[in-house]
Formats: sequence, C-alpha cells, structure tokens
Amino acid sequence: MFSSIVRERDRLGVSDLSNFVNGDWVADFDQRFDQVHPSTNQPVTRVPEAGSRGVDAAVAAARRAFDQGPWPTMAARERKKILQKLVDRISDASEDLGYLQTLDNGIPINFSLNTRVSAVTAADIFDHYAGWIDKITGETYPQYTDTQNLHFMTYREPVGVVGAIIPWNAPLMMFALKVAPALATGCTVVLKPSELANLAASRLAQIVAESDLPPGVFNLVTGGAETGAAIADHPGIDKITFTGSPFVGEKILSVAGKNMKRVTLELGGKSAALVFPEARSIEVAAKTVMALSSTFLSGQVCSTPTRAVVHRSVLDEFIAHAQAQIASVKFGDPFDTATTSAPIISARQVERIMGYIDKGQQQGARLVFGGDRPNGPLADGNWINPTLFADVDNKMDIAQEEIFGPVLSVIPFDTEEEALAIANDSQYGLSGGIWTADLTRAFRVGRAMRTGSVGINGYSVMPNSPAGGLKRSGMGREGGWSTIEAFTELKTLILNLDG
Ligand code: NAD
Repeated sequence: MFSSIVRERDRLGVSDLSNFVNGDWVADFDQRFDQVHPSTNQPVTRVPEAGSRGVDAAVAAARRAFDQGPWPTMAARERKKILQKLVDRISDASEDLGYLQTLDNGIPINFSLNTRVSAVTAADIFDHYAGWIDKITGETYPQYTDTQNLHFMTYREPVGVVGAIIPWNAPLMMFALKVAPALATGCTVVLKPSELANLAASRLAQIVAESDLPPGVFNLVTGGAETGAAIADHPGIDKITFTGSPFVGEKILSVAGKNMKRVTLELGGKSAALVFPEARSIEVAAKTVMALSSTFLSGQVCSTPTRAVVHRSVLDEFIAHAQAQIASVKFGDPFDTATTSAPIISARQVERIMGYIDKGQQQGARLVFGGDRPNGPLADGNWINPTLFADVDNKMDIAQEEIFGPVLSVIPFDTEEEALAIANDSQYGLSGGIWTADLTRAFRVGRAMRTGSVGINGYSVMPNSPAGGLKRSGMGREGGWSTIEAFTELKTLILNLDG
C-alpha cells in the first residue's frame, strides 16, 4: 500500500463524482461503482452509472443546444475566444490535472506531467483546434456547362451531436482529441470517460463547465459498457468518436450503422519495429523499443512496438541491450518522481496478460526474461515484470494479438522482403517503426508498411499531424485538418443567377 494514494486524493479534494448535463452537475443516481487505484486496488472514488436514462438526458441537452443554437452558427471570433480561454484554464490547472491522471491510472507522475499524455498536450490540442475555427472554408466551382448561369459552392457545416467514448490510458489527451475538434467545428458533445479512469476527465469537464459555453454544448456522463452502448445506439447522436479496443469498436460500428452515424474509430495495434543491421545504434534501437514496453504505461499504449523484427546478424546484440534497459525500470509509488513504470490497469487485465505469457511458452517462444510478477510490498497491486520473448514466429498468438502489457516479442529476419512481410502479416495497421541509417531503405519500407503511421529512428505524435489506423486498428484520423473534415459535413449550395 502506498500512503500517497490517500494523501493525493485528499489533497486534490476528490469526492464522489457527478455528471454534467445541460449546464448543471447531477449527482442523483440509483447506481454507483468504485474506481480503484491499479497500483494498490484501493478505492479512490465512487462513480455514477449514467445508464440509458442519463444518456437520454445528456443527448436531449446536446440535441437542443445544436438544433436551437447559438453554438453551431456562432461567429468564428466568438467561438475561438471561448476555446482560447479554455487553453489558458487547462494550462493553469495542468499540474492538478496531471496528478489526477496518476490517481486514475497509475502512470508515474513524471510521465503524467511531462509527456505527450500530459495536460500541457491537452492544452496544445485545444490551441491547435481553436486555430482552425476561422479557417474552416468551403470551395467554389467553375461553371461546368454554359446552359444556365449556375454557381456551385460548398460550406463545411458541423456534423451535429457527437458521442465521444474514451479509454483509460490517457484520459487528458483523449478528452482533448475528441472535445476540441467537436467544439471548434460547432458540434455539441456527450463525452464518456472509461469506467476505470474518471478523475482527470471529470476535472477537465469542470474546467469546460466553468467556461462561456452555452448550456448543453458539452455534457459528461460516466459509466461502463452499458452507458457506452446507450451512446453508440442513441438515435439523437450524429457521430461517434471512439478510442478503445477493436472488440468494442466492432460493436459500436454495428449499432452505429442503424441511423448512419458517422464514425471515427481509434483502436488497438500490434506494431512492428524493423531493426536493420545498418541502424546507427542497435543499442539505442533496442533500449527505445524495450522502454516502450517496460516504462511509461508498461506497454499499455496503442502504438507500442510490441513486435521487434530484428535482422539475424544483430539479434543477440539487440536482446542483450533490451535486457540491460530493464535495469533502469523502477516500480513503486506512482507519485514518487523516481518511479518509471505504471501498474497494469486491472486485476482482470493482469490475468489476461499472464494467459498470453503462458501461451507464448506453450507455443514454443523462448522466455528470455520476465514472465512473472513482483511480490513483497507490490503484491496488492497489478504489477507484471517486463517480459521479452525471443525465437517468436509471427504466427504465434503473442505476435498476432494485442496483449496491452509489458511483453515484447522478438522475431528474426534475413531479408528486407521478409521483414516487410512479417510487419504486414497482421490484423492490425496502427503504426510501425524502422531503425536504419539507410534513408532510401527507410522510405521504401516506410511507404510499403500497411499502417497509418511509421516512425523512422523514433516515433511521436503531434496535435497538427494525423494519426490513426488501417484494418482492425480502426478508421479515420485524429490530428490536423483531417479531423476538421471528420467533424463536418459538406453542404453544396447552388445559386441560379438566371432564376
Ligand atoms: P475498451 O474498449 O475496453 O473501453 C474503451 C471505452 O469503451 C470505455 O469508455 C468503455 O466503457 C467503453 N465501452 C465498453 N463497452 C462498450 C460498448 N459496448 N459500447 C460502447 N462503449 C463501450 O478499451 P480500454 O481498455 O479502455 O483501452 C485499451 C484499448 O484502447 C486498447 O485496445 C488500445 O490499443 C486502445 N487505444 C487506442 C488508441 C488509438 O489512438 N488508436 C489510443 C489509446 C488506446
């Protein structure tokens, strides 16, 4: 047990949570559940299950705010000012928001405050989309025939009421990636955080609630699968933007089809890092790839390269450096700045990961290190030691399925064609990596990888650049203009000057 969980919960004034609907906080619910901290399984708050009744109320408010305005038709300058104020307020509250995120999901405090999942990034995302508001333009078209004096022009209009459903692993960034483009385009929103991580999203909702948004433009509902399903199925919602597992993504896609909701799905991955022998440093490649599975969120990130596809000539060197990297891993109190790695989000997910570790061994992969759980003071929490499998065949379950934990599979190759074939032999297509000093090879292989993005000698995401997946990794992109397109509909206006 870490005393810091209770200390930080009290310091940050965490109490039982409410929902935000039509401009008011609602606390009166028949059902509530405990949110526990993954590092110790201690309860941190009680969360309302909004259910279909709560979702109905939130959608009705969002529907009214959209259909009756003024939000969708508000002058660009006014809407932009409101979003810009939000940027400042999120920035001012960034430290508390970072601490709440660690209280939610156990991400080590240093990472919660200082990386791309921080509130600073959330503010950047709002800033980026605020910048689009006065630049969302349509087009005019040249006269196609000379029979009539017709003028065609397009407008980009907000898609309507947006249902936003987010996962537990990066609640601040995910909140911003959904809410900022929705508000920037003039949509209204019903957002549901993960049942496993509600604190940071609720505090961010409070900041939005205290802004100058008209009532009903932003609504927060909490709950689990039942509440999420009520959003996906709701006829009053025009678009779903979802980040989470492919399993849930498929369910959403099938029910959203009923009223032709627009859908953006950011789902899982099984990304490959291709390590070529001419890479500038095999040590840097191995340590970077291993660190993504062993530190930060302990491999619980969609874009983590969980398959290291390594040229046979540098295989032993790669594995030795990967093993050396885990010497710097420090489990423990998530509020201690020296801690490097997050616990696994739930006891259920620990079981699932341990099941994959067993399967890997049964199917003939060689367990080089890890595969077990720390005991002693960490035994009450959901911890798994960083794990590396060598001699992995890409057909094995540990190479094909998203494990979402600290497990790296190393797969050898001999030729570039073979490396590419292994990378593309996947039901997923989220991201990928190439480690090489040969830029011609980097471009050739990078273009041929069937994924939404590819990092050459490193990987990152930015608010103004699109990210997203192919195949079971989802549909649509988040970041930059592509998102503005996804939150708007094209309206064609035809003016007959002879009429
Ligand atoms: P999850 O799919 O279990 O849950 C995500 C959200 O969906 C939660 O809010 C949950 O309550 C809700 N939900 C559950 N059942 C639902 C239903 N039937 N209808 C509607 N909503 C429902 O995912 P998770 O465990 O929170 O997150 C991990 C997954 O998210 C991984 O697969 C990971 O790869 C993926 N992810 C993807 C990205 C990306 O950008 N591509 C980013 C982060 C996480």
